[in-house]
Amino acid sequence: MTSLAISGGTPIVTTPPPHFSWPPISRTTTDAVRRQMNTAISIYDRSGVIAELEDRLREYFGVRRAVLTSSGTAAVHSAYVATHIGPGDEVIVPAYTFLATATPLLHIGAIPVLADSDETGNISVADVEARITDKTKAIMVTHLWGIPADVPALRALADQHGLALLEDGSHAHGADIGGWKIGRFGRAAAFSMNGPKPLSAGEGGFVLTDDDEVYKRVLLHGHYNKRCRNEIPADDPAHLYGVTGMGLKFRIHPLAAAIALEQLGNLDSYLEGRARFAHYLCEQLESLPGIAVPKPPGDTYPAWYGLPLTYVPDELNGLPVERFHEALRAEGLQEVDRPSSTRPLNLLPLFRDPTPMLPYYPHLERVAYRTGEFPVAEQIWHHTLKLPVWHRYEDLPLAEAYVAGFRKVIDNHTQLLG
Ligand SMILES: *Cc1c(COP(=O)(O)O)cnc(C)c1O
Repeated sequence: MTSLAISGGTPIVTTPPPHFSWPPISRTTTDAVRRQMNTAISIYDRSGVIAELEDRLREYFGVRRAVLTSSGTAAVHSAYVATHIGPGDEVIVPAYTFLATATPLLHIGAIPVLADSDETGNISVADVEARITDKTKAIMVTHLWGIPADVPALRALADQHGLALLEDGSHAHGADIGGWKIGRFGRAAAFSMNGPKPLSAGEGGFVLTDDDEVYKRVLLHGHYNKRCRNEIPADDPAHLYGVTGMGLKFRIHPLAAAIALEQLGNLDSYLEGRARFAHYLCEQLESLPGIAVPKPPGDTYPAWYGLPLTYVPDELNGLPVERFHEALRAEGLQEVDRPSSTRPLNLLPLFRDPTPMLPYYPHLERVAYRTGEFPVAEQIWHHTLKLPVWHRYEDLPLAEAYVAGFRKVIDNHTQLLG
């Protein structure tokens, strides 16, 4: 009998951690940063590396306008404000997402109406439809772990009800549906470029839109003075407010923009590498009892921000997910993660009672979510084991070792029962 490492056996993976790091920093990356340091470290208008990166993003995504921001959270905030979401408006957001998809709504007096997941983990179109009221102004969608949500269906629903569709593409840079990149499906899209995101600036984000009014309002929201004064035409009544805009500042750091510009040049090759690893991992793991692999629709190209496996305890004699996860970690599979900050928002204190944090929020009675309200999202989240998706051929032995670790724990899971 093979002893599991958790009960004193030899671990499968002995490579010292970390087993995955992101973004890839090469000599080219550091050269780009050094060059930028010698060029400009503060940029107040749309020039230099800011203009260059925004133009590259516009080309890459196939949209008319891009605005860089200091974070993804800022980008989401601006996308809401720019599409005229305001006090008392209801916005339908996924229950299962990273918190910043929804938290900006609490700062503009709007109401996050959470919707449950479908069996993929992404927002359920049917549940969105059921939650539309005469106060609904927009639908926000996340493409969880980089697997495209059903945005064509959500777009049709939004159009039918006269709502704005917004995308949070923070897991899904470069993902597409039938060749149409995520970020093009709604009135605006917000992306994070935080450290581990598929396109990374270390810290940063951006908003994409085809709509000039949305573009102008993104500038007014977080890019006051020079940028507003330069870009908002003198005959536009908003030009008068150029110096102050709406008074917030959400500019990206030029060094971060330089990193992202360099990374963007490699994004497609990173994604191709990830797709190969995701295919390999799914192929290897899908036949194992206790594991269900994601099955993205055939016309989608995911960005594979992570590989969300679903643990199926019934296939392993009811072994609890916590114990299964511990056993994998003991085998040295350090990067197998149970998502923590990305979780059904109804489980977070801020969405159960925001009063201590935001006593001035005008709809406290509407943000009083409870455990059990989003059963599909809660069930999927609780059973998700997320694997990193590597992109370099050199990492194949590590991926193989992870597969072997899963096999070992599953083959010997009866040692963990009772
Ligand atoms: C990371 C992330 C954000 C927030 O981005 P930051 O750059 O960390 O502010 C928003 N939404 C989703 C889905 C994210 O994953």
